Amino acid sequence: MQIPGHIDPVPVPRNVTPRADRRVDLMGLAKAQIRELFAEAGLDAKQAKLRSKQVFHWIYHRGISDFEAMTDMSKTLRPWLDARFVIDRPEVVEAQISEDGTRKWLLRTADAQDYEMVFIPDADRGTLCISSQVGCTLNCTFCHTGTMRLVRNLTPGEIVGQVMLARDALGEWPRGNMDLSEDESEDTYRADGRMLTNIVLMGMGEPLYNFDNVRDAMAVVMDGEGLSLSKRRITLSTSGVVPMMEKAGEEIGVNLAVSLHAVTKDIRDEIVPINKKYGIEELLEACAAYPGANNARRITFEYVMLKDKNDSDEDARELVRLIKRYGLPAKVNLIPFNPWPGAVYECSEPERIKAFSKIIFDAGISAPVRTPRGRDIDAACGQLKTAATKLSRAERDRLETEAAG
Ligand code: SAH
Ligand code: SF4
Repeated sequence: MQIPGHIDPVPVPRNVTPRADRRVDLMGLAKAQIRELFAEAGLDAKQAKLRSKQVFHWIYHRGISDFEAMTDMSKTLRPWLDARFVIDRPEVVEAQISEDGTRKWLLRTADAQDYEMVFIPDADRGTLCISSQVGCTLNCTFCHTGTMRLVRNLTPGEIVGQVMLARDALGEWPRGNMDLSEDESEDTYRADGRMLTNIVLMGMGEPLYNFDNVRDAMAVVMDGEGLSLSKRRITLSTSGVVPMMEKAGEEIGVNLAVSLHAVTKDIRDEIVPINKKYGIEELLEACAAYPGANNARRITFEYVMLKDKNDSDEDARELVRLIKRYGLPAKVNLIPFNPWPGAVYECSEPERIKAFSKIIFDAGISAPVRTPRGRDIDAACGQLKTAATKLSRAERDRLETEAAG
């Protein structure tokens, strides 16, 4: 079924404009790709293999972005690499820290597209919320990113670059001895005790509409010789791109979160319009079939609490019924709606959210209410970008129409 409007994934370029200095950015590339590039640039097969392994280690294990600092490379190899390659990070346009420790960055790609990233520290973990696209093709009515047009998919380098930048900002690269040829001891090299422990693909964009780049980026993030994050600590959130869900489980293998937000066709069609294409039943069937989901690794259902829209006792009971009917190993994440200028919804009253949560809890399903974080810095989807950019005429018209309607 074809839906009118710009709801389908649109063809967007995968790669950014080449750099002016013609050097190739290694950020986000797999070890095998680095090896190929080194071979193409003239290293023999054996050297290409060895050097790609070393460079990969420096980039992702040590956080080094300067070839000159790669002390196990010969003095002639370092400038040779530097003339041909670069290890880049996204440009930081704005960095903010909230009173509660939440950090938010507005980032810019080499071709001047802005996107966001948020870090949320908790007592037992630190979660980095990263973007997969600039804007989004979907138009969820409560989501600020939904009011922006999709500009383009982020490349693997721009996705992995977010994690690298967060590690830089949090000062989480191993300190001490940088010479791999010498033995490392506990005193000189400490990789544990880090703040950044978890990653969620819940920033701007629909990750399953940028499948290949998200998959390749997560492979680099999970690579045991690099950042080495476990798939159990990464969560991909989708609005419900049903045909890509099984493939995501098989090829990416991370935890799944689903933006359900409503339990009836009418309401979900309205607030999460992809529902017109892939309905609730289909979506829940795909959840039941998601590879790797079990009681130890449950699927998270995200449910944004919108006053008088999706927050009745009846809605809560229907949510329980659906989860049980499909036999889903599930937990529910109740998200207080974060208002933005021009939004047509209000957040449900705290009492309402509590009552909603209790119905689900009483049925034996975990349903915590997500504590709003970083409100003083507008750390919700799409807000920093909008504050920083002048809206296009079309965007302003749309916001005004929505505010009026
Ligand atoms: N496109 C994907 C991932 C990005 S959105 C998806 O839709 O799942 C990440 C989460 O933020 C989604 O659950 C989304 O519904 C939620 N969200 C978006 N705008 C919000 C707002 N204003 N208040 C609260 N949650 C919001
Ligand atoms: Fe896109 Fe997710 Fe926002 Fe919907 S909620 S518009 S899918 S980013």
